[in-house]
Amino acid sequence: MDCPRCETTLETYALAGSEAEVCERCGYVGVSVEHESEPVELESWQEALRRFEEKHAE
Ligand SMILES: [Zn+2]
Repeated sequence: MDCPRCETTLETYALAGSEAEVCERCGYVGVSVEHESEPVELESWQEALRRFEEKHAE
């Protein structure tokens, strides 16, 4: 899957028991929802990702 903004290949992160599609280039975060084919962009996931990256960087 590619980023809808810049078409960079998205990275998949496992967060809080779910998966998020993340673009490291532009910061897009998409959450896959079972009932929808299109990922949903949520601000809360960007915050979660920020915490994940902080922990990952240590
Ligand atoms: Zn992007």
